[in-house]
Amino acid sequence: MTPRFRLLAALLAAASMAATATASVAPVASTARPLLPSHGDAAQPDADAFDALATRLERGALTAAAPEQARDQLARLRRLLPPGDPRRDLRYRYLACGAAPGDAEATIALATRGIADARALEDAHAQVRFLYCRADARASVAPPDQTLGDWEAGLAMSRANRDWRLVADGLVGRGYMRSLDGEHARALNDFLTAQQLYRTTGHDALARENALNLGIAYRRMGDLEEARTHVQQALDEATRGDDWGTRFNALLQLGYLYEDLGQLSRAQQSYEQALNLAPREQARAQAGAARLALAGVLIARGHHATALEALDQAERELAGTSDTGRSGLLRMRRGLALAGLGRNDDALREYEAAERLIRQQDNERYLAMLLPARAEALEASGQPDRALAEYRRFVQLEGTLLDGSARQRATAMRHRFDARRRELDTQRLLADTELQRQELDALVRARRWQWLALTLGAVLVLVLAARLLRQQLRTRRLRSLASTDALTGVANRRAIDHAGNTLFAAARDGDTAMSVLMLDIDRFKQVNDVHGHLAGDEVLRRVVAACQGALRNSDRLGRFGGEEFVAVLPGTEAAPAAQVAERLRLAVQAIDLDDVAPGLRATASVGLATLRADDGGFNALVERADRALYRAKAGGRNRVERDNPPG
Ligand code: GH3
Ligand code: MG
Ligand code: MG
Repeated sequence: MTPRFRLLAALLAAASMAATATASVAPVASTARPLLPSHGDAAQPDADAFDALATRLERGALTAAAPEQARDQLARLRRLLPPGDPRRDLRYRYLACGAAPGDAEATIALATRGIADARALEDAHAQVRFLYCRADARASVAPPDQTLGDWEAGLAMSRANRDWRLVADGLVGRGYMRSLDGEHARALNDFLTAQQLYRTTGHDALARENALNLGIAYRRMGDLEEARTHVQQALDEATRGDDWGTRFNALLQLGYLYEDLGQLSRAQQSYEQALNLAPREQARAQAGAARLALAGVLIARGHHATALEALDQAERELAGTSDTGRSGLLRMRRGLALAGLGRNDDALREYEAAERLIRQQDNERYLAMLLPARAEALEASGQPDRALAEYRRFVQLEGTLLDGSARQRATAMRHRFDARRRELDTQRLLADTELQRQELDALVRARRWQWLALTLGAVLVLVLAARLLRQQLRTRRLRSLASTDALTGVANRRAIDHAGNTLFAAARDGDTAMSVLMLDIDRFKQVNDVHGHLAGDEVLRRVVAACQGALRNSDRLGRFGGEEFVAVLPGTEAAPAAQVAERLRLAVQAIDLDDVAPGLRATASVGLATLRADDGGFNALVERADRALYRAKAGGRNRVERDNPPG
């Protein structure tokens, strides 16, 4: 028998304690038996085969198997175990823990050794398994609270290791202990959490088995509908999955439920089905449990003689176990059957023995069944005073039991609401997360578009700016081309005319002085003729450079045509203008042209005119300067001539 099976069997025991007065069954105790020798199985040590079988057994095959099959499977696993393999040895030992021969004390010792060995090998999983096995074994010999330490230790370890299957196992174990302690609501909470873990980790066989735990817990709290749903589900799944253990237990549970619902013939059917499943020698304890339950229904239906026979057989089947709770129930039932046959004195003797056993176990529910039964027998045997005392005890006890039951139901309700609230919280959190993710996605997408638009915009602006700049440069170049003399780079005729007119207007407006110089290179035709046009061009460029060097910043120089240049001198009276003219003449004369043509020299004649009141415009000034230039040429060239004063 595996620890898990024993755990369930013990659960059945606890469940039976909660049964109604007429529907009770003794708990199923440890059914551990020696491993049977298996015939015809020539399994040899084989690590792979060992692992495969161990995994199958660990995932629930062991609890699903009928008792003798489970023993065969463990024996086979033993033979497959490779020698000198401490880890696999540990695995075999925890799977076989509780199924080994011997009593609970031997199993406890075995588990304690296993815990030490697992710790030495740093095998946390195995350590937890042995802790659970020990807790399980202790449950049959010690009060529930003494096993809680091992369950909690195992739970803490498996939580730390995120070993969810073992967390679930621990919760089932702890829930069972709480259930025995009468804390049905907290037990239910443990079973519910375990169920979620089994389902989410794909341990269907274990979930199926645990569905039965849920059914038992609900039944104890009086939620019969919920209980039936779970038990029926466990039964259906177990039948489909050929799960002997769960099927047997589910049938018993269904029987209890029908009894609670007052459907006695259906209850009887369920127990008989369970008995048919357990005819084997190896399942005697289970047969005893089912027969004890059957006897309860037979009594309720008035078949007292048949019930007595069933109880005798159940006693034989259950012989050799030391569970006082079950023997207490058996004696009580025998009392009920005897009383039903009118043998009140015999019944009272049985009740007395039953009360001793039940008090040892401190089982108030059994007591609550016993007291009215005994009161009835006392009354029937002519002892009304003692009967009345028994009734009083019963009423008092029932009151405290009802109080406790109502409290349990309220706590269960709160736990269920808590569980639902947690579930809703989780769902809301998930939904929030999903919403946030979607919003984030949308935001990222929008940003991406924004960036794209921004980048495109920036590129567009840059392209436009570049175009604009190019356009402006071209315009400026065109404009400068239009106003600049290509050969010398100074203002052309149109530009110097324009500048001259503007400065003339300004001089008129500001009543300031202004002078104009007209400069002409002497005998330039000869330069071209003698040295060529290119040399002539070079002379033109150097004359311009020399003139610009001799002029002031505010003065303007322009090419008027051919080898004639005009300089506009704003704010300049005749005398300083004459000095500027002289400076120009000297600058031209000083130009070194030897690199252009050896011995080549350049001179220029300059005519000067200064603004007069009767000047109509810039052209008038230019004309007068031109006349002065003519006189300079006529006067022998390379000289400066002023415009003659009027008159
Ligand atoms: P004068 O001293 O009387 O001014 O004699 P000149 O030879 O300088 O006068 P003229 O007006 O007879 O000759 C001007 C010459 O300037 C005629 C023309 O070939 C030359 N010329 C005009 N423009 C350019 C030019 O851009 N490049 C060159 N190389 N020669 C030019
Ligand atoms: Mg000329
Ligand atoms: Mg000339």
